[in-house]
Amino acid sequence: MAMLLHACCGPCAMYPVDFLLNENVDFDLYWFNPNIHPLYEWNRRLENLQKAADHYNVKLIRDGGEGHIDCREDYWKSGEYKDQYASRCEMCYDIRLDNVARFASENGYDSICTTLLVSPYQQHDVISRIAKEKASLYGIEFSYYDFRPGYREGQNMARDIGLYRQKYCGCIFSLEESKFRDKIYKSFEE
Ligand code: SF4
Repeated sequence: MAMLLHACCGPCAMYPVDFLLNENVDFDLYWFNPNIHPLYEWNRRLENLQKAADHYNVKLIRDGGEGHIDCREDYWKSGEYKDQYASRCEMCYDIRLDNVARFASENGYDSICTTLLVSPYQQHDVISRIAKEKASLYGIEFSYYDFRPGYREGQNMARDIGLYRQKYCGCIFSLEESKFRDKIYKSFEE
């Protein structure tokens, strides 16, 4: 039985995919990232993840299928999460990993993992805890990997194959807080 590997973007997928293939792990990639703002960026990251998947000849599943768009800008902007979650990032991990685990369970996968575990800039322990809870909720396993030692290598691999490497985490808040904010907005116009 296979693992479903949630992927947040192409560059973060490079090292985990390379590592898992070398370990002979059977897995498919899965895209579900409604946090990414704006839609232009959502499409750009998805396209680059597809390039990474093609590079490794790995199957990439898009939630909702080809052409389906799940980019919930308004929800992220609304601040509704404040009543339900300790933080915006906890909500972001929860919504994504809940979807990943449910999809995996409904489609015959026996475990999940996420490329979010490669980034030293993400809340590694919170992601692991939520992924474990979600896997258990849907009756599957969470396959934990600490991919962080390969973060730099993965970013270099992404650069070598010409992937776009974003300068902010994904949501509108991280975009506004980025020191590259102006440059990023300019890139949307190009
Ligand atoms: S900073 Fe990143 S992890 Fe946190 S809410 Fe925004 S996109 Fe999600």
